[in-house]
Amino acid sequence: MDLGLKGKTAIVTGASQGIGRAVADALAAEGARVVLSARNEEKLARAAAEICAAAGDAAYYAGDLNDPETAEQLVAFAEREFGPVDLLVGNTGGPPSGEAHALDEAAWRAAAELLFYPQIRLTRRVLPGMRERGWGRILYITSISVKEPIENLALSNALRAAVTGFAKTLSREVAADGVTVNTLGPGYTATERVKHLFEDNAARQNTTPEALEQRLLAQIPARRMARPEEIAAVAAFLVSEPASYLTGQAVMVDGGYTHGLL
Ligand code: NAD
Repeated sequence: MDLGLKGKTAIVTGASQGIGRAVADALAAEGARVVLSARNEEKLARAAAEICAAAGDAAYYAGDLNDPETAEQLVAFAEREFGPVDLLVGNTGGPPSGEAHALDEAAWRAAAELLFYPQIRLTRRVLPGMRERGWGRILYITSISVKEPIENLALSNALRAAVTGFAKTLSREVAADGVTVNTLGPGYTATERVKHLFEDNAARQNTTPEALEQRLLAQIPARRMARPEEIAAVAAFLVSEPASYLTGQAVMVDGGYTHGLL
């Protein structure tokens, strides 16, 4: 299937590693011109160079999306490099673990700055142009926690729900302008993020990361974690031309992990 992404300008945030990096690779392989963004300039430069070496078109912008200025600067950079932004894949790192009753206000504010506000700012900046041109794709990477809250991840459980609510509301406002807005909730995916979660939880539960991993795998019907490329393949479809009638959806890519019927 031709995903219709040749020559489209894409921004992928959180793209220096893990899921974001895999999404950038997938979009570039489909012919999109991809601006990768994250905080670590060295990793970004390497990722962009690897994409270009594989005959893709990529540039990078290093910045911290906690800083309100970064979204504006990133989009302006993408426009200068490749032209108006057609695709936005909003992604950042996960917040620290913690229980809902124990977190202080500073922790909640920091999590909103990491997970919620960057998506709003980036979207507000790219949306008017997409609507004017009558074509746009917006996808936020969330988590299976929007379907089934995960123990000891209160910040993620709450803020991903906020992003999902924003996406659903926005999707109805802009559907008639040819802009789709969806979210993708990865299940457990073999990245740095998950390694750290196992280490953190193992210390808390007085066990080993390996034992925790085995316990988790037993709960996943696929009996393994996802590879980042498996998440990216679905992301690429969700922002594709053929997915033009798919909007306002929260798509879980989880090897069957979540139990909910819908
Ligand atoms: P990761 O930690 O491996 O990568 C996160 C990326 O976001 C990195 O490129 C990092 O530089 C960037 N980033 C972090 N904070 C940033 C900031 N303030 N400004 C700009 N960039 C920032 O994470 P991952 O495993 O690839 O996961 C991506 C997202 O998906 C995360 O939000 C994570 O919580 C979520 N998720 C992951 C899993 C999983 O199993 N890996 C499962 C569910 C949800």
